Amino acid sequence: MPEFVPVSAMNSPALPHNASHSLYLPGRHLCQFRAVSAYLGLAIGDALGATTEFMTPHEIQSQFRVHRNMIGGGWLRLKPGQVTDDTEMNLALGQALIEAKTMQPGTVADFFVRWMRSKPVDIGDTVSRGLRRYLNQGTVEAMPEEFSAGNGGLMRNLPVIIATLSEPHLMESWSLAQARITHHNPLSDAGILLISELTRLAILHGQEAPLQSTIHHYLQKYPIFDFSHYRGESDGYIVHTVKTVLHYFMHTLDFESCLLGIVNQGGDADTNGAVAGMLAGAFYGMDQFPSRWLKKLNPTVKDQIHSQVDQLFEIFEG
Ligand code: MN
Ligand code: MN
Repeated sequence: MPEFVPVSAMNSPALPHNASHSLYLPGRHLCQFRAVSAYLGLAIGDALGATTEFMTPHEIQSQFRVHRNMIGGGWLRLKPGQVTDDTEMNLALGQALIEAKTMQPGTVADFFVRWMRSKPVDIGDTVSRGLRRYLNQGTVEAMPEEFSAGNGGLMRNLPVIIATLSEPHLMESWSLAQARITHHNPLSDAGILLISELTRLAILHGQEAPLQSTIHHYLQKYPIFDFSHYRGESDGYIVHTVKTVLHYFMHTLDFESCLLGIVNQGGDADTNGAVAGMLAGAFYGMDQFPSRWLKKLNPTVKDQIHSQVDQLFEIFEG
């Protein structure tokens, strides 16, 4: 007698044999939730930190006591909830990946240029220099820089992480390809790979992610990122951004405290906020975000983030 097979089982994808894979579908759903959380966290950190960008902790303290609300302002005179180049360059990179369905540095550079020509509220010096070089020479890789290592390649890398979630080697090569369009320096490369790997693990595993051991492993190779004696250096140097982000992320227990520590440190507060918001967002998930921040964030940006994550997951799933 033939074995009874329900029609529904015949039409559904083969179920993995391993019991640990039995959460396959909810797992995908959770990863997508955490990817959206990382992206929204990044935009929140940008919008919140822009208020205190280039200020010292002392100036922040005397003006706000503690800066804790998304009020805009800052040197860019932003509206509450408005984001800056940090979020916008992620959106440009995401659009390029979605259009090419893979990493094409020329397409990424074209989307960055299109963004630069849209008269953004802010643009970094190294970014604008790199994009002018692309326009003049057509090269998609900056000359190696020995002495300057800004955080501009790191701040915009989230779409690459989302599109390559299960492919760490692909994540590495795509990350460096997009970053080196404007930022080409060994410390920039290393900082990007460290924070991106932590974010990738946090999107895949949430609070179960083995972040401590991953950090330990990287610090053995790159002791320059050791943040155990953090002294509050929070400018746009990649080493300081990585240390600031890891210091506040590893020494706080929730999304809000992590971001409050970062943005009240001043310096490159919007970029440090974006990078920390990305990592802490993936780790804690947006259900832990203070609603006063999520509500204020520019609604168009929120819509773009949701739609990009859907489309980036399609690249990731092939
Ligand atoms: Mn910015
Ligand atoms: Mn900045």
